[in-house]
Amino acid sequence: MSEILVIGGGAIGLLTARELTQAGARVTLVEMGETGRESSWAGGGIISPLYPWRYASSITALSLWSQREYPHLCAALREETGIDPELVRSGLLILDPEEHDQALSWAREHRVTMERLSGDTLRELEPGVAHKPSAALWMPDVDQIRNPRLAKALRSAIEGRVQIREHEEVVELLVESERITGARTHKGTIGADAVVVCAGAWTAKLLEQLGARPNIEPVRGQMILFYAEPGLVRHVVLLRERYLIPRKDGRILIGSTLEHEGFAKITTAEAKEALYHTAVELFPRLEQTPIENHWAGLRPGSPSGIPYIGAYPGIQGLYCNAGHYRNGLVTGPASARLAADLLLSRVPIVDPAPYALDAQR
Ligand SMILES: Cc1cc2nc3c(=O)[nH]c(=O)nc-3n(C[C@H](O)[C@H](O)[C@H](O)COP(=O)(O)OP(=O)(O)OC[C@H]3O[C@@H](n4cnc5c(N)ncnc54)[C@H](O)[C@@H]3O)c2cc1C
Repeated sequence: MSEILVIGGGAIGLLTARELTQAGARVTLVEMGETGRESSWAGGGIISPLYPWRYASSITALSLWSQREYPHLCAALREETGIDPELVRSGLLILDPEEHDQALSWAREHRVTMERLSGDTLRELEPGVAHKPSAALWMPDVDQIRNPRLAKALRSAIEGRVQIREHEEVVELLVESERITGARTHKGTIGADAVVVCAGAWTAKLLEQLGARPNIEPVRGQMILFYAEPGLVRHVVLLRERYLIPRKDGRILIGSTLEHEGFAKITTAEAKEALYHTAVELFPRLEQTPIENHWAGLRPGSPSGIPYIGAYPGIQGLYCNAGHYRNGLVTGPASARLAADLLLSRVPIVDPAPYALDAQR
């Protein structure tokens, strides 16, 4: 089997390397920093798009496939590595009063469990919430994952089977007679028969030297983390694009912002204030709770959030799996399987056409 180079060690690169190595391929993964420390570390880990009915069917297809896969993936990772990615079925409570009919009809069409709750039932389910809409939407089967742990487990699972080269930045893709031959890093060259670019927000930077570049740009997201006691927030709660995620140990994440500020991965006092305000407005008891952390990450933003998964036109052996925008955790396992299917000429798990690099988005 030929040598495959995966560029980028976020969730997408790690999952892709795992898929390829499980199929018997010889894989090298190159990462400019440390694996799993960029967007995949910064994200919230909700295993559902936030308002799933608003997305293209191509995103729904990847999400539904991955949602079914996550329990198996996490069980396998726990067994192989001893690291628990903490997949928890927290359910998703959506407090926005609009779009209920549209949401429920989407759920019926895709056989997703979604209920409309009365205000009273909502208060029973989430007693600490101060916001009191007359009705809410409840998706009891939505999971969350602790994404830094997922990345650690994935890395540990492939260690020994995949050659992992960290702190090594790819600066050039090497092409001869319209065929990829490897990549040049600041430390030397790595030869390969096939290359998969999983470089998240940096993907377009890397591919633009070849001419056509996917429309991927960094979209900053900031989060804050409270150190609370377990039970203060019971479910993932969403209102007006902001959400709270309760971790098993009581920590509560509040996210997030959507900022187009290039590659500046900085936190700002304004965002901290705005996120804090949302948190306290929804759960006033958080006012007495210390903020433990505040961070930013760069999402790989793409038009309509549809990732680019497939062959790079005109260059044999070059592939892309990037641009997952706000949904890289929930669509990750399916994206990795699809990328591996295409690379290894297997029957693809879903129709690959919507994700092609030259597809209309
Ligand atoms: C605040 C926030 C909240 C989020 N919440 C959720 C959520 O709840 N659910 C969900 O599904 N998604 C969520 N996301 C989105 C999700 O985190 C991303 O879609 C996903 O992590 C993208 O994974 P990736 O591997 O493509 O990118 P990354 O994790 O950014 O990985 C790309 C990697 O490529 C490396 N790299 C780049 N260029 C090079 C190069 N030239 N050479 C070598 N290495 C290179 C980088 O160092 C990086 O490690 C959130 C994101 C943010 C920021």
